[in-house]
Amino acid sequence: MSRVYNFCSGPAALPEAVLEKAQSELLDWHGAGVSVMEMSHRSSEFKSILASAKARLSRLMNISDDYEILFAQGGASTLFAQIPANLTHGFNSACYLDTGAWSSKAIKEAKKYTNVVLAGSSKEQSYHTVPDFATLNLDDSAAYLHLCPNETIGGLEFADLPDTSLPIVADLSSTILSRQIDVSRYGMIYAGAQKNVGPAGVVICIVRKDLLARSSDTLPTVWNFATLAANDSMINTPPTFAIYLADLVFEWLEAQGGVAAIEQQNIAKANALYAAIDGSDFYANPIDPRYRSRMNVPFTLADESLEATFLEESKAAGLRTLEGHRSVGGMRASIYNAMPMEGVQALIGFMRDFEGRYGK
Ligand SMILES: *Cc1c(COP(=O)(O)O)cnc(C)c1O
Repeated sequence: MSRVYNFCSGPAALPEAVLEKAQSELLDWHGAGVSVMEMSHRSSEFKSILASAKARLSRLMNISDDYEILFAQGGASTLFAQIPANLTHGFNSACYLDTGAWSSKAIKEAKKYTNVVLAGSSKEQSYHTVPDFATLNLDDSAAYLHLCPNETIGGLEFADLPDTSLPIVADLSSTILSRQIDVSRYGMIYAGAQKNVGPAGVVICIVRKDLLARSSDTLPTVWNFATLAANDSMINTPPTFAIYLADLVFEWLEAQGGVAAIEQQNIAKANALYAAIDGSDFYANPIDPRYRSRMNVPFTLADESLEATFLEESKAAGLRTLEGHRSVGGMRASIYNAMPMEGVQALIGFMRDFEGRYGK
C-alpha cells in the first residue's frame, strides 16, 4: 500500500490515524458484532456515537446551550435552499454577501425563496478581495445576512464579520475547525463534512435555538430545522457512517490539542506555501494578501503551457489533485487540517525543483 499527499478540495484527505481506527473497527464496532454501517440508527450503540460527535464538536468549537447541533443531508448545496426556506418565514428579504463561486450559488438558490438584498460584492474585482464592510448595503428588516468566509474555489478567506444586528448565517464548509471562531456571533453555521470533517454525506449545522421558531409546518418534513432538532437529527435515517467518521475526526482533533493547536499548524503551512509562491516569478497567487485562504491555495504558472506537465509530474511525485477548479484553471492546493506540514514541504520542494528545470 502506498498513500500519497492528497491536495483535493473535497472530498479531501482524512487523517491517516482516523482511517486506521475506522478500519480496525469496521467489522465489529466495540464488540457489537456488526459494523457501524449495519446497525440501526435507533440502537443505543449508534445513539452513543451521535451523542459523542455532538459533545466533541461542542467542546472543540465552544458551542453554548443556546445552539442546536444538527446533522443534515444533501450537501451544503441543499442548505443553500433549505436555509432561506426555513429562516425567511415571516420576513420579506435576506441579505447576501457575494465573495465568490459558493456565495453566488447560495444567492441563486435564495432568490427562489425570498428577495435577496446584495449586501456587497467583489465580483468586479474578480473575487480577489472582500468588499469593505463599512459600505455594506444591509436591510435591517431582513431575515439574516449570509456569507461564505472561505471561498474554496477562489481561495479567498476572511476572519472578521460585519457589524450588524442581523443573525449571521455562514457557510463554513471549507474552514470549519481550521481556526478558532466565536460561535456566539453567528445565528447559524453550516458545513458540508467532506472538506475538513469527514466523508461526504453529512452537513453539520449549528443553529441558534431562537431561529428554529421560524421553521414553518408547511416545509417538507425532512427540511424543517425545528423538526430535525426535535428528533435529534433523526427524522429519517441519518448518514450514520459519515457521522461516525466525523466523530473519529473530532476525537483526532482533540488529541492534536484542539482547534487552537491545529490553527497554529494551519498558519505555518499556509505561510510556507505562500512564501514559496511569492518568492518566485514562476508562480503567482492573485488574491489580496489580507484575504488569502489558509485552506485553499490557488496558484498559476507564469507559462500556462507548462500546466499539464506540472500536473503530470507532481502526480508522479506523489502529490495528488493539484489542478484548480474547472472554472478558474491553474493549480490549487487544498491544505486542510489533515494535511501534515510534511505534505506542504513536499509540494514546495517539488515546485522549486520544477522551476529549476523549466524556469528561465
Ligand atoms: C464544497 C462546498 C459547497 C458544496 O458542497 P456540496 O456538499 O457539494 O453541496 C458549498 N460551499 C462551500 C464553501 C464549499 O466548499
